[in-house]
Amino acid sequence: MPDMPPAHPFDFDSDKLKEECGVFGVTGVADAANFVALGLHALQHRGQEAGGIVSHDAEQGFNSARRFGYVRDNFTKQSLMDTLPGPLAIGHVRYSTAGSKGNTQIRDVQPFFGEFSMGGAAIAHNGNITNAVALRRELIGAGSIFQSASDSECIIHLMARSLQRKVPERMQDALRRVEGAFSIVAMTRTKLIGVRDPLGVRPLVLGSLGDGWVLSSETCALDIIGARFEREVEPGEMVVIEDGKVQSHRPFAPQKPRFCIFEHVYFSRPDSILGGRSVYETRRAIGVELAREAPVEADLVCPVPDSGTPAAIGYSQESGIPYAMGIIRNQYMGRTFIEPTEQIRNMGVRLKLNVNRALIKGKRVILVDDSVVRGTTSIKIREMILDAGAAEVHFRIASPPTAWPCFYGVDTPEREKLLASHMSAEQMRDHLKVDSLRFISLDGLYRAVGEKKGRNPKSPQYCDACFSGQYPVAPSDMIDKGFTLAAE
Ligand code: SF4
Repeated sequence: MPDMPPAHPFDFDSDKLKEECGVFGVTGVADAANFVALGLHALQHRGQEAGGIVSHDAEQGFNSARRFGYVRDNFTKQSLMDTLPGPLAIGHVRYSTAGSKGNTQIRDVQPFFGEFSMGGAAIAHNGNITNAVALRRELIGAGSIFQSASDSECIIHLMARSLQRKVPERMQDALRRVEGAFSIVAMTRTKLIGVRDPLGVRPLVLGSLGDGWVLSSETCALDIIGARFEREVEPGEMVVIEDGKVQSHRPFAPQKPRFCIFEHVYFSRPDSILGGRSVYETRRAIGVELAREAPVEADLVCPVPDSGTPAAIGYSQESGIPYAMGIIRNQYMGRTFIEPTEQIRNMGVRLKLNVNRALIKGKRVILVDDSVVRGTTSIKIREMILDAGAAEVHFRIASPPTAWPCFYGVDTPEREKLLASHMSAEQMRDHLKVDSLRFISLDGLYRAVGEKKGRNPKSPQYCDACFSGQYPVAPSDMIDKGFTLAAE
């Protein structure tokens, strides 16, 4: 049922921030859509709700397929892949985008396609447009007819209204009107295009595959198709790939980059490379910093799997306290679109995580997790660990307190629902009822990502708005709705 929205999605990872999208594109190889499907499969952690692929073939023109659910359940079917021929294709996986949470329609699923006077173009967007409401109002007033609830569709309409002749120039015109975060993969009949916003908030990399070229949100998706990592698309850069050649353009006024520091902590896969650094190694270094900043006497260091694992290894190495798999994750319990009964809903995290009782009993346990959002999962995990007979429970968190929502392409609860927005670390410890709770400091996190002197408070090197409240791009739509920024 490709055109029906998924009913009642139930998320076993509901207490995590969620990256909303992954993008992938290939040109210059036969049956490019097959490679895109594999790339999207490797990017599935960036969005599990739906996926789409657009391809172009000289004889059959543009073709598109958009489906709800996992890539592996849709884009492995030969009958579907046969409808996506050609040497050029782009794709997108999504969690959900602004304006359509919980009410997704197939028309909201990317890539979006537009037929312009000079030919068609398809576009897949990772990020969030922070002035989309104002742009949409203006575009509708000028006669644009929107097909979806997605902020990304604004880009197609802005391109349609541009007076430029060629698609890359039209896209540049459009993107100069757009505020916020965008890493975009787009295509025309002959060109594969990649763009990053001037701050480079979300990742985008360039790879080569024989004589062909690849664009991807992360390097882990290059590996799956045997592509070679060439370089990152730089903040503010547009690459246009045609006839096997890559041209680089700089359509925006230069700005100091502000890459999302949370990509290092949680969103990206640990086998990806970000900014020349292994994500795994950065997460291990966060654990080392945490052990230095927040030591405690204990018997075991256990990760909250899977994302807490590298930091727990680092904590254990630095502290000398043995590492143990005290919690085991059921790998097959992800997001599901089957409506759970109330009884199943109450089981919550127990469906996904189970305590290794034989290891935990009588032990003082340090649990290392990547973040605390609402705190609901942390409470359940503490209950499970104490039920298994742990003598003490100490939480160590591999990110600073998440006190502010993200407006740059990450699904975050409203500010009031973030525990750290209204509680100190000590109040959170009381609330979670654990023996101790410590977060890595912002400076410690910056050191772990390679900034020797920590965070430069006058000119931070990354976006860290969800920790600091300092937004590198004012979220103008949200301010119009009454959102209050942090005092300077
Ligand atoms: S607000 Fe947080 S999650 Fe969003 S881009 Fe900035 S660092 Fe990343």
